[in-house]
Amino acid sequence: MTGNSLGLQPKQTRAYVNQELEDWANLGVEGHFEAKNPWLSYHEFLTEPMADIVGAKPIEVVVMNTLTANLHFMMASFYQPTKTRYKIVIESDAFPSDKYAVESQLRHHGFNHKEGLILWKPRKNEELLNYEDLETILNQQGDEIALIMIGGVNYYTGQFLDLKRITELGHKHGCIVGFDCAHGAGNVQLNLHDSGADFAAWCTYKYLNSGPGSLAGCFVHERHAYRKDLNRFAGWWSHNKQTRFNMRNEFNQLPGAEGWQLSNPPILSMAAIKASIDLFAEIGMEKLIAKSKKLTGYFEFLLKQLGEDTIRIITPSNPKERGCQLSIQVKNADKTLHNKLTEAGVISDWREPDVIRCAPTPFYNSYEDVYHLVEKLKAIL
Ligand SMILES: *Cc1c(COP(=O)(O)O)cnc(C)c1O
Repeated sequence: MTGNSLGLQPKQTRAYVNQELEDWANLGVEGHFEAKNPWLSYHEFLTEPMADIVGAKPIEVVVMNTLTANLHFMMASFYQPTKTRYKIVIESDAFPSDKYAVESQLRHHGFNHKEGLILWKPRKNEELLNYEDLETILNQQGDEIALIMIGGVNYYTGQFLDLKRITELGHKHGCIVGFDCAHGAGNVQLNLHDSGADFAAWCTYKYLNSGPGSLAGCFVHERHAYRKDLNRFAGWWSHNKQTRFNMRNEFNQLPGAEGWQLSNPPILSMAAIKASIDLFAEIGMEKLIAKSKKLTGYFEFLLKQLGEDTIRIITPSNPKERGCQLSIQVKNADKTLHNKLTEAGVISDWREPDVIRCAPTPFYNSYEDVYHLVEKLKAIL
C-alpha cells in the first residue's frame, strides 16, 4: 500500500536495464550511437509518454536530475526576487524537502527565510487547504510575493489541489506559480499545460514505478520555451544538439524544457523509467484513473464501516479532490498499530502523530488487497 513512497518493480524493468548493460558491454563508447536505443538521445524516448502522463506538450517536458534538484533549477530561473517582491508561499505541511528548498532559496538571495516564507495553512482543527485562505494571503500580500510553490497532491492528506485555480490566482497577482507533483504524477490527471503553471517537477520512483532514487521529471510551460532572458544554469546538455559536439561554439540554448538539462544522463536509470512508462503508455492514464477511483472508493466504503468514532479519513471524500491515497486517522492510536499492520503483512506508511497513509495503486493492488487490509485493521483494533 505504499506506491506513494516507492512503486513496485515492473516485470519488464530487468530486461530494459539488461539491454543497456549488454550494449555497454558489447559496444563500449559506440553505444552512444549504435546501441539499440542510442544513449545520445535516450531521454527523448521518455519525453512523449511522460508528457502524456502529466498532460503536457512534449516541448514542455524533460526527464533529468532528481526532484529537489529540479525544484532548485526551476527556482534559479523562476524565482527572481526584487527588494519589494521576494516572498514565497508554500503549504504549511509541505514535504520537508520542498520547505528546505524554498527556505534555502530565500537565504541564497539574501533574505530572511522566516520573514520571507508565507505558509498557506489549513484552518483550526482542519487538515485540508482552503482556496479562500490563499486568496486572502494574495489580497493582503500579493505585491510582495514572487513565487507560489505548492505540492499538487499533498503527501500527508492526499488532497489533490486545483492547479489551474491556484495558478490563475497567483498570476492575477503577478506571482510565478510552480508545483511539486511527486504525489500526482501517475496518480491523478494533472493537465499541467492547461493549468497554466509556470513550472513543475516530480519524481519517478513513487507512482511511476521507476526504481529507488530514479531520475525526475520537469515541466516548463510552453510560453517560456524560447525565452532567452531567463536566468539559468547551463551545461553542455542545455546546448543545441546539432553543434553540441563541436565543443568550440558559443553557447546556444536548446528551446523548451530540454534547455534546462545540464549533463549527459544516467542511462541505466532511464531504462528503468522507459520500462515503466511504456506500460503507462499502453494502458493510458484514463483507464488507470477509472480503476483507481473504484479501488479507492471501495477502500473508503470498507473503512467507513469501522465507524466514525474509531477512524476518520482526512483525505477529501470527493474523488475529484484526491488520488488513490487515503490518510486514516485512528482514535488513540500510536505507532504500535502501524507495527501490527506490518507484522500482519500490510505495508503502510505511518506519520506522526496518528495517521496511516495507504495508497492502493491501480497497477498492482487488487480489490482483495484492500479487503484484506481492512479486515486486518479491524482485527487489530
Ligand atoms: C517524495 C518527495 C520528495 C523527495 O525529493 P527527492 O529529491 O526525490 O529526494 C520531495 N517532495 C515531495 C513533495 C515528495 O513527495
